[in-house]
Amino acid sequence: MSKFVYMFDEGNSGMKEILGGKGANLAEMIRIGLPVPYGFTISTEACNSYYAAGKSITSEIEFQLLDALNRLEEKTGKKLGDPVNPLLVSVRSGAVFSMPGMMDTVLNLGLNDETVEGLAKLTNNPRFAYDSYRRFIQMFSDVVLGVDGFYFEQLLEETREQKGYSSDPELTADDWKEVIKGYKDIVKKRTRKAFPKDPKEQLFLSINAVFDSWNNQRAIVYRRLQKIPGHLGTAVNIQGMVFGNMGNDSGTGVAFTRNPSSGERKLYGEYLINAQGEDVVAGIRTPQPIYALQDEMPEVYQQFVETCHLLEEHYRDMQDIEFTVERGKLFILQTRTGKRTAQAAIRIAVELVEEEIISKKEAILRIDLDQLNQLLHRRIDDSYERRPLTMGLPASPGAARGQVVFDADEAEALTKDGKKVILVRPETTPDDIHGIVAAQATVTSRGGMTSHAAVVARGMGKPCICGCESLKIDLKAKQFKVGEMITINQGDMITIDGSTGEIMLGETPMIEPQLSDEFKLLLTWADEERKLGVRANADNPEDAEKAFEFGAGGIGLCRTEHMFMDTKRIPIVQDMILAETYEERTDALNKLLPMQRDDFEGIFQAMQGHPVTIRLLDPPLHEFLPDKEELLVEVTKLQMTDPNSKKLKEKEHLLRKVRQLEEFNPMLGHRGCRLGMIHPEIYVMQAKAIFYAIAKVMQIGIDVKPEIMIPLVGHVNELKEMRQLVIDAGMQVTKETGQEYDYLIGTMIEIPRAALTADQIAKEADFFSFGTNDLTQTTFGYSRDDAEGKFLQSYIENKVLPENPFAVLDQEGVGQLVETGVKLGRQTKPGLKTGICGEHGGEKSSIQFCYDVGLDYVSCSPYRVPLARLAAAQATI
Ligand code: ADP
Ligand code: MG
Ligand code: MG
Repeated sequence: MSKFVYMFDEGNSGMKEILGGKGANLAEMIRIGLPVPYGFTISTEACNSYYAAGKSITSEIEFQLLDALNRLEEKTGKKLGDPVNPLLVSVRSGAVFSMPGMMDTVLNLGLNDETVEGLAKLTNNPRFAYDSYRRFIQMFSDVVLGVDGFYFEQLLEETREQKGYSSDPELTADDWKEVIKGYKDIVKKRTRKAFPKDPKEQLFLSINAVFDSWNNQRAIVYRRLQKIPGHLGTAVNIQGMVFGNMGNDSGTGVAFTRNPSSGERKLYGEYLINAQGEDVVAGIRTPQPIYALQDEMPEVYQQFVETCHLLEEHYRDMQDIEFTVERGKLFILQTRTGKRTAQAAIRIAVELVEEEIISKKEAILRIDLDQLNQLLHRRIDDSYERRPLTMGLPASPGAARGQVVFDADEAEALTKDGKKVILVRPETTPDDIHGIVAAQATVTSRGGMTSHAAVVARGMGKPCICGCESLKIDLKAKQFKVGEMITINQGDMITIDGSTGEIMLGETPMIEPQLSDEFKLLLTWADEERKLGVRANADNPEDAEKAFEFGAGGIGLCRTEHMFMDTKRIPIVQDMILAETYEERTDALNKLLPMQRDDFEGIFQAMQGHPVTIRLLDPPLHEFLPDKEELLVEVTKLQMTDPNSKKLKEKEHLLRKVRQLEEFNPMLGHRGCRLGMIHPEIYVMQAKAIFYAIAKVMQIGIDVKPEIMIPLVGHVNELKEMRQLVIDAGMQVTKETGQEYDYLIGTMIEIPRAALTADQIAKEADFFSFGTNDLTQTTFGYSRDDAEGKFLQSYIENKVLPENPFAVLDQEGVGQLVETGVKLGRQTKPGLKTGICGEHGGEKSSIQFCYDVGLDYVSCSPYRVPLARLAAAQATI
């Protein structure tokens, strides 16, 4: 017989697969002697067997469950359904990976018209007993019977108004009795059945509901987002209740052991006096900050602080803890590794090393690279003088701009249309999750730093402001007011700063991100570990400087055509292309040369002696000419209005040239080294510009390590000819300037034939750089520009391909060519320098692959350099 049910003292934190995260940690906390209400866990395997049996609890599981219930009753001395001494339990979902708020929980189960009186007598607190009962009806009806909480809220609000109360704690026992009667009527009306009285029936229905919640819409969306597999199932925890709603010596709260937004080592959390767990997270009442507990209940606070330390040390990481105080006694109800922003993750990892809790290697491995993008977010320009409309709680850092929307569906739809939106809600529920995903940021007027919106936004690295109570939101009118004077309508632009809580009207200027001191330190640890070099792709001195600042060990790809695209240069480039004679062409090239030379000088200076790989012209020439259709329109117009003009002649000439250069398949057309082969003077000009720059920079005493790269080589003869061209240009410049220099000449491997004949190509190459963008295009035979918009999306959705091969290197196919290229190349030249310069150079699994096949370096955009440094270290450890 397999075991499906585990008492809390039979488990430990290593059993997450079976007990779910919540159950395993509850067991672990009991094991280390913390005050946790006793209970048992029905395993994730039971959930799977529930689904296998067509959504029913098998008799085997039922038997084990009733046995566990007996043991819980023995331990507590109470009995489920006993009118004198009733046992009340919570039924809590708990998946293997935490899915906060995504699945359901029922509290105070076991209450009915009889047991509620027992509870009232036993505790000598009828008000509390009836408050618990109405909570139970409300939660059970919502979770199990599918009656929307709204009906209950509405009735409660009416009652409050009628009696002139402003908050729930003012209701007396008799008031609650009345409410309960109303609640039961609601259930009867909505479900056509009476509310179930039998506690065992209540229990089984709740367990079913928790199992069912594994497959509710929002849980499915969340799993897809977080890449959590659907077959894992959820466990169910049945736990004796403790009560935070017994009066002013009771309460409930949640706290992170460190600030999940900034990482600061300071307790961060909230609590509510005289309330039950759900109240804090639901954002119905805005809670007190945790430090206020120090004054209100000093002893409990002290004990809580000690427990936090203990849990942090035990789990060796920041924890997110739920607690309840029942008549002055502290209970811990949940602990888990706290979700945090990338910024906090880095600070926490670094400080845990300094506190000697984890090693440097562990700190490096703890950083989730997917999350790091957050740090590369822009923020509001410091020099901008802020005039905030209003302020809320800074719940998740980062700045965002967008149009105001008030509805999650609308946020999603507008985003699909390419709009940037900010979702503004009174509060969010798990049903709004798609809106939070779509929006640039979320703002709520109610709820604290641990409210649903805050937790979800932080997890996704999206800016968020919570509890902005000065916003008077009118969902019907689609507007919010700040004070009497200011009204913001749907569609108006606002800017928010999730790090400060400020909301501003309009669009404020933003600046690029910078690295924190902790991040820099962590990166130096990563540099000590990694064996893979990290370079950046940069085409101008500014990018080169940024790359250097972010720790790039050189430039892996400088695309010279980007230097041609400048508005001042493009007419000269066009002259060069349109030239009819050799003289005209060299004339234009001579004008371009000094411009390119100056760019190279700037880049060499920025890189201070680190290698710089410069690729000679790559795209087809017609990319520099105007669009054919537009030209045609212009020409036709001129033919009618000004048929004899010089302008018309010029345009006609241009049009002829455009037509002449037009290609059926430009991606496979006249580009790369094929340009240099047919128009050697272009490559000669570029090579000379490079050599002049080298000479000049060396003469001012700065070291230069240039690597000149010939693109799109498919046959060794191409490289041989181009190599000679560059060498000749180099000698000529030496002759003119008197400056000697060292440099390398290499090639991109971006055509399958080049990878397959890499042994021959290596004879002419000092280095290889795998251009995996083109290599992916040519290996798959996909034109990147056509594939992504036309069929690739559907391929990925239908799992024809596991991922977009332009984003994540296809290791099986394209990767095999890379591996072959490295192996053959090094057969000819042992120690041949190899790198990668496609988009993939900044993607973590591709970086791991590059390390595994023995590349010397990866090259990526400057902003991804820090990520690549960490990924390279993670690949090594
Ligand atoms: P979630 O996974 O959505 O956080 P939980 O199962 O943790 O759901 O429970 C929701 C709330 O109910 C939490 O605040 C929790 O602390 C509280 N709670 C759960 N079980 C008990 C219990 N046995 N006694 C008192 N409060 C409880
Ligand atoms: Mg919880
Ligand atoms: Mg290419």
